[in-house]
Amino acid sequence: MRKLVAYVCVVLLVAGCATPQRFFEAGTPCEASSFTVIDDFGGARRGPCEILAKEHVRLSILPEDDGYINPSPWYSFKLIPSSQTNAIVSLQYIGGRHRYVPKISTDGLRWSPIDERHVSVSEDGALATIDVPLGVDTVWISAQELITPAIYDAWTTRTAKETAAKLRLLGFSLAEQPIRYLVSNPSARDVLLLVGRQHPPEVSGALAFFTFLETLLADSGLATQFRERFQIVAIPLLNPDGVLGGNWRHNLGSTDLNRDWGIFRQPETRLVGELLDSLDAEGSRVRVFLDFHSTDRNLFYTQDESEPTDPPNFFDAWFAKAAPKLDDYPFTHEARPGKRPGVGKNYMYRRYGIPAATYEVGDETDRDTARAAAVVFAEALMTLMLETLAPTR
Ligand SMILES: [Zn+2]
Repeated sequence: MRKLVAYVCVVLLVAGCATPQRFFEAGTPCEASSFTVIDDFGGARRGPCEILAKEHVRLSILPEDDGYINPSPWYSFKLIPSSQTNAIVSLQYIGGRHRYVPKISTDGLRWSPIDERHVSVSEDGALATIDVPLGVDTVWISAQELITPAIYDAWTTRTAKETAAKLRLLGFSLAEQPIRYLVSNPSARDVLLLVGRQHPPEVSGALAFFTFLETLLADSGLATQFRERFQIVAIPLLNPDGVLGGNWRHNLGSTDLNRDWGIFRQPETRLVGELLDSLDAEGSRVRVFLDFHSTDRNLFYTQDESEPTDPPNFFDAWFAKAAPKLDDYPFTHEARPGKRPGVGKNYMYRRYGIPAATYEVGDETDRDTARAAAVVFAEALMTLMLETLAPTR
């Protein structure tokens, strides 16, 4: 018996002294002694994880593929505490620099930016360290709010139920996720086309898209009048695979979809091309195009004077209507020649000669302010389209 006890002690001693695992590949729970870092959910991106100390891990934040990636280093992970402590999480960016203020949530639905005193960034931007106080509950940390395909499904279904818009299937992404769109008054021949989320991390633009479309579909007198006259076609989520994969930029075909318009090598963009073909075949006419994105500030990219639109000077008139109501939403109008043919707005201008804009919302623009501005822009756009666009016969 004494021998057995001694044996058990030796086994326990060896096990106790064994070097704990320090490296965890992406997709496996990364177990520090007082918390675990998880990346097993839609939109997650954590990369390989290394335990540096009892309460300190380093995550390697990598893009989705080796192609050119715009510097939008997305990260999203959960921290599951095993004891109440402070988790120190370092984000080591590979091929990018720190861009997004980390957002924190305890349910994956309601988010707030982490206090900047808890985030330190190296001078070259390649390393950001976050100090997260952990209680007993799981905490989500994400570059931006998680607006996943499931959230789009819930929102589009609810919107179709509560408004006159119908939900239709556009087709399927490369990974065979459904891509849906909302359409209002399909018998009207003049069309306003809205597209969203070609670029996965661009969540502030997605939030503006939701409010913008809700304003077009509202019960107001203006919106009702607008919908009697115009057809609205809105594709909220063109890149569901990229969003689900936590990509920095691309779809699953390693392609920036907003460089593929007209080329249509990717199924997602090809679906838009087919939708345009069918609108053309029905005798409908796209009159205005807006594509929602995010960048470091609020702005609109539009045609410049070298690319006259029908109607002319449309954007100046739009922003002149909106700006007086937007005290706390600074934005710029960046009119420039559309040199890259595969960009959505450039393709739409080339194909139709219409006003076609990229609607960019700042990464860290206050969300309520971005939503309030989207209402103002939507109302000004409806007014302007009603005033200036002669009906297609
Ligand atoms: Zn973008």
